[in-house]
Amino acid sequence: MNTRIVILGAGTGGTLIANRLRRKLSDADITIVDRDDAHVYQPGLLFVPFGLIRPEEIVKSRKRQLRSGIHYVQSDIDRVDVDGDRVHLTDGTVLDYDVLVIATGSRLLPEETEGMTGPGWMRNIFPFYNLEGASALQPAMSAFDHGRLAVSIVDMPIKCPVAPLEFCFLADWYFRRRGIRDRVELVYVTPLDGAFTKPVAARELGSLLQRKGIELVTEFNIGQVDGDAGRLISYDERTVPFDLAVVIPLQGGADFVGRSPGLGDELNFVLTDQRTLQSTVRPNIFAIGDATNVPTSKAGSVTHFEGDVLTHNIVQFLAGRPLDEHFDGHANCFIESGDRKALLIDFDYDTQPLPGHFPLGVGLPLLRESRLNHLGKLAFRWLYWNVLLPGRDIPGIASRMPRAGKRFETVSR
Ligand SMILES: Cc1cc2nc3c(=O)[nH]c(=O)nc-3n(C[C@H](O)[C@H](O)[C@H](O)COP(=O)(O)OP(=O)(O)OC[C@H]3O[C@@H](n4cnc5c(N)ncnc54)[C@H](O)[C@@H]3O)c2cc1C
Repeated sequence: MNTRIVILGAGTGGTLIANRLRRKLSDADITIVDRDDAHVYQPGLLFVPFGLIRPEEIVKSRKRQLRSGIHYVQSDIDRVDVDGDRVHLTDGTVLDYDVLVIATGSRLLPEETEGMTGPGWMRNIFPFYNLEGASALQPAMSAFDHGRLAVSIVDMPIKCPVAPLEFCFLADWYFRRRGIRDRVELVYVTPLDGAFTKPVAARELGSLLQRKGIELVTEFNIGQVDGDAGRLISYDERTVPFDLAVVIPLQGGADFVGRSPGLGDELNFVLTDQRTLQSTVRPNIFAIGDATNVPTSKAGSVTHFEGDVLTHNIVQFLAGRPLDEHFDGHANCFIESGDRKALLIDFDYDTQPLPGHFPLGVGLPLLRESRLNHLGKLAFRWLYWNVLLPGRDIPGIASRMPRAGKRFETVSR
């Protein structure tokens, strides 16, 4: 009998790992499951509210991103029977596996915050982390001509932790371009103690917020959203007033993880070895992308770098050989900052984002606004569909974080 590999989730990670494994293991039976056939290019969601891209331009068929010979099943997932090596789908189908890969991403949980999905939801309170929210926010942004716009994160971890900052920078540019920036107050509300999680980047991004006249409210843990009164209310009873709130809701792993004993943590993220990407519950279960609990950013770039290590480790596992402990948490994110410029950050588990250049001593500037980075951000969309998802490597970009080009001495400044 051929080896049976089942992959749960056909987003970024599921698609790229299916395509990589198809190439490596020509005899394996590969099955991938997702609940719908609409693959959204999520980095494009940032541009939808500003009318810079139309929603239909960032969606493609999931099935069509898969190499031939990969079996696609469309259904919701009910649970994993980790002892019986099988997955139960909500349509009653049972899938037996030799190797299981969990790639079901991170889920938005707006209903977990009191009042968020109340009367103001999609009226003066919008998310932009999904197609529905980003699309509904576009006319609200275009109608907004004065007042206070608050961009707020409920809690960490969130996918693409830089996207809310990018939203602020683009909003500043958008209102300037419309000639009404002096009538709009922008405020960035975060549970962190600075603009970002890592100190050097927090300093640089914090001063960029300041230069753009965007107020920064830190250590604000939202307990309640009052849409009628237009107020964010923290657990320690501080308030941030708003006319329009752009919210990044609480996030967690897929529901079925919680129904599969031993698989996940309290937020339903899969308990995963951060170096091998093997689950801690069973040796034949692996995880990739936002679904894992590994301590790096939840980002498409991370998912891509993980794909390289994970493909290798699944081949090792099937051959009965030891797994490589190679995954270093490498993340690489463009930060769009308006005026056709962007910053770039590159980091791993041990190295925070630093200034310098990527990938070598010359290349794209790190932690500094530049036109080149903006072009890189735009090019990423093409790379996503044509290189990342088909499971190819990006020439010159290794999965391990490059140290050359980074200015390590800035850490102590
Ligand atoms: C606004 C925004 C901007 C971003 N910008 C960037 C960026 O610039 N650069 C970057 O690197 N990353 C960016 N990201 C993050 C990036 O999109 C994600 O990290 C990446 O898509 C993660 O891939 P994944 O496979 O883990 O999850 P996903 O691509 O989300 O795929 C998960 C899949 O699992 C399916 N699924 C979940 N539960 C079930 C179930 N119970 N049954 C059936 N199917 C299920 C879902 O339908 C989905 O298709 C951004 C994200 C957002 C929201």
